[in-house]
Amino acid sequence: MKEECGVFGVYSFSDEAVAKTTFYGLFALQHRGQESAGIAVSDGEEIKNYKAMGLVNQVFDEKILQNLPGKLAIGHVRYSTTGSSTIENAQPIKMDMKYGPLVIAHNGNLINSGDLRQELKDKGISFAGDTDSEVMAAMIATSTKQDLEDAIVDTLKHCKGGFSVVILTKDKLIAVRDPNGIRPLVVGKLPDGYVFASETCALDIVGAAFMRDVGNGEMVVIDKEGLHSRTWSRGEREALCVFEFIYFARPDSDLDGRNVYEARVQMGKYLAKEHPADVDMIIGVPDSGIAAAIGFAAESGIPFSDGLIKNRYVGRTFIQPTQKMRDLGVKLKLNPLRETLRGKKVVVIDDSIVRGTTSRQIISLLREVGVREVHMRVSSPPITHSCFYGIDTPTRAELIASNLSIEGIRKYLDVESLGYLSLDSLVKSIGLGRRGHCLACFNSEYPIKVPEKLKSLKLIFK
Ligand code: SF4
Repeated sequence: MKEECGVFGVYSFSDEAVAKTTFYGLFALQHRGQESAGIAVSDGEEIKNYKAMGLVNQVFDEKILQNLPGKLAIGHVRYSTTGSSTIENAQPIKMDMKYGPLVIAHNGNLINSGDLRQELKDKGISFAGDTDSEVMAAMIATSTKQDLEDAIVDTLKHCKGGFSVVILTKDKLIAVRDPNGIRPLVVGKLPDGYVFASETCALDIVGAAFMRDVGNGEMVVIDKEGLHSRTWSRGEREALCVFEFIYFARPDSDLDGRNVYEARVQMGKYLAKEHPADVDMIIGVPDSGIAAAIGFAAESGIPFSDGLIKNRYVGRTFIQPTQKMRDLGVKLKLNPLRETLRGKKVVVIDDSIVRGTTSRQIISLLREVGVREVHMRVSSPPITHSCFYGIDTPTRAELIASNLSIEGIRKYLDVESLGYLSLDSLVKSIGLGRRGHCLACFNSEYPIKVPEKLKSLKLIFK
């Protein structure tokens, strides 16, 4: 499972240049995408857009930010879900329209973007890249509506899928969220302006106070008059992606009013109740397995210990590893604490098992340093279905839980015991009703119907 993208937007009523604010907002959202980063800024007359491949602090420096003057900005960090990893697909995407220049940045995935793209191509529109964001921008540009906000709403009504979008014009900052609220998006208040961000951790870093989530099917507009909002779609089932809680979001973020770290600790507590084990210590797979391991230890009374040390500087790099290094696999990222683990019986907790290959390598590392018994616990249910709403998941054929029983997975991983958190306990850990989440990768109840042709495409080509 790979992160999707992160979006950020800021509108300042003072004369302060906001490119730096956007830089720090993106810096806080770096975990959501490491392939490319971009910032677009308006000074009221002109929009400048700068983007490149790489991490936020590889793409931007002081000089570049100084050359991006203006009081309104949006920013984006990208991991490619739709579209390949190229500069043409980096965001924000700028387009000149009858409404003036417009820049768009998008997190999520449209399940009907292929059809929408074809309709636009049939009208003679050409595309520089192959992202959903460019499709959205082209739809806004070709809308018959006279007013920009009407054109955006007109476009959104044709878009199906999970999306959180920020849009910049010369004098407006706009944020929209899909009717099911699948991808997160929040509004924050600065002393002299407003901020939009994928996660609340990006509000904290720029000194903004959390105001509220952008509602499902809501469009929030900030202009010189202040903030106004309109709901363009009502009555859809609320379906925030539960994987944001399990893995994607930063633990210091709050989603729908629930702190992510607290939710993960609670998942570990329920896991200890459902799948106890007689062991010497509890360890977690860094980073997202750690909070659940702390919860498991608290509930079971068995001590938590660091057992696997993560190289904090393993991120996206443009230096390709050699084949010999690739063979080392997970050793590039994780190293076991030999002295702590030797001869011990341990519970090792990870947030999820996707293909099973990484977990198997981690368990093999533990065996190599002399761990006596390995009991694997997973702080989410078995993943049996692919995601179509902006998370890069493998095909069902590659998902281990789609093909093997729990006992089959246990044997494949070579562990003494294996236990997954139940769906009910996962939902209870998050503390919101089940109707409030997308749980489709565990129970196949997709909140938005996925076209059969898309399902089969994913099965064949991914
Ligand atoms: S299918 Fe899974 S990963 Fe995709 S939005 Fe739903 S819960 Fe999230």
